Amino acid sequence: MKTIVILGSTGSIGTSTLDIVDRFPGEFRVAGLTAGSNDEKLEEQIRKFKPRVVALSDASAAARLRQRCAGLSVEILDGPKGLSQVASATEAELVISAIVGGAGLVPTLAAIRSGKQIALANKEPMVMAGKLMQEEARKHGVRIFPVDSEHSAIFQSLEGHRKEDVRRLILTASGGALWPLTKEELRDVTAERALQHPNWKMGAKITIDSATLMNKGLEVVEAHWLFDIPESQIEVMIHRESIIHSLVEYHDGSMIAQLGLPDMRTPISYAMRYPGRLPLDLPSLELTEIAKLTFCKPDHDRFPCLGLGYESLRIGGTMPATMNAANEIAADAFLKGGIRFTDIVEIIRRTMDAHSLKEVDTLEEALEADRWAREKAESFVSALVH
Ligand code: NAD
Ligand code: MG
Repeated sequence: MKTIVILGSTGSIGTSTLDIVDRFPGEFRVAGLTAGSNDEKLEEQIRKFKPRVVALSDASAAARLRQRCAGLSVEILDGPKGLSQVASATEAELVISAIVGGAGLVPTLAAIRSGKQIALANKEPMVMAGKLMQEEARKHGVRIFPVDSEHSAIFQSLEGHRKEDVRRLILTASGGALWPLTKEELRDVTAERALQHPNWKMGAKITIDSATLMNKGLEVVEAHWLFDIPESQIEVMIHRESIIHSLVEYHDGSMIAQLGLPDMRTPISYAMRYPGRLPLDLPSLELTEIAKLTFCKPDHDRFPCLGLGYESLRIGGTMPATMNAANEIAADAFLKGGIRFTDIVEIIRRTMDAHSLKEVDTLEEALEADRWAREKAESFVSALVH
């Protein structure tokens, strides 16, 4: 029985993780859960999974939850400190990091520093402070298992092989909801349209990131830090069907890939139960029914955010954190209807251009870059609001 904590338990990854826990009652025990402000859903999860401790980052939501759960034996914490306390809960062996955005950095790092193994869905902390997270993981004997489907595919394709034999990592990208649109059409796209992802049902922020291809830009940075492979050996390929989840090419010409129907429970369960595989009983991937898979190169002209991901990694230091924060602000402004789809990349680009580069050796340095970039990006958003 593995004791787990889920950071971001009310989200898309969080609820898929709890679905796995529910299906395999003898395998996992839930010690702690956290969420942002959804006290209603967290209450349901408390009643069903009986964690010892939970936290909501929103203090008034936590106050509501205390009322809802009066009489239950659960400790209810709040705020950033509460999140980190749950992340480092003594009895937990594995922390599933599934908060969305930079808000996950502090609790995920707290989990690493208290020696928990990590199943990492929350890619933004790796983008903001990948070097620091890996250094801390090494120091505390922690393994970080990727949950992001592409990185799980690469992790699986690297198993049993030597890193020095790798020629390229190839991340696949569905292209998101807007891939067929022209540059002109992209300008007038609504948030509702951008949220219609062809293959995956995910939280709103990552769905917008998929539509801009910023998600793939973030994933290039994530892959660099997870696998210690230089940016020049990481490529991206558009594969609309999301069947091949990513590939590794070796120097002898072999390519090893992981395939499957798009269901996040596969990579989540692999990270939770590594090296074993849980019998999830999902439908089989019938390649003869699919018959044809397609591939093409990314279009940097229509989707320039991917290039920013590479650029931030080449520049290094605080630039990836700056890009990530500006993207969070811009994607949120687009979701709220304040800016155009094509303004997102403009805001990120301008914020990156205005940034004075520093190193990221400490958590404080990463957080400071994040704060600066959010403020800068907010000022660009205010100037643009239509
Ligand atoms: P989501 O929006 O569905 O859920 C986010 C969770 O984080 C919720 O529990 C929410 O309450 C919590 N949260 C939000 N803001 C918070 C804050 N400020 N402080 C504390 N908690 C907060 O997101 P998701 O789609 O589940 O994605 C989670 C992470 O996993 C993201 O980093 C995303 O990029 C990554 N990821 C998701 C998928 C997917 O299929 N959904 C696939 C790959 C990677
Ligand atoms: Mg992904």
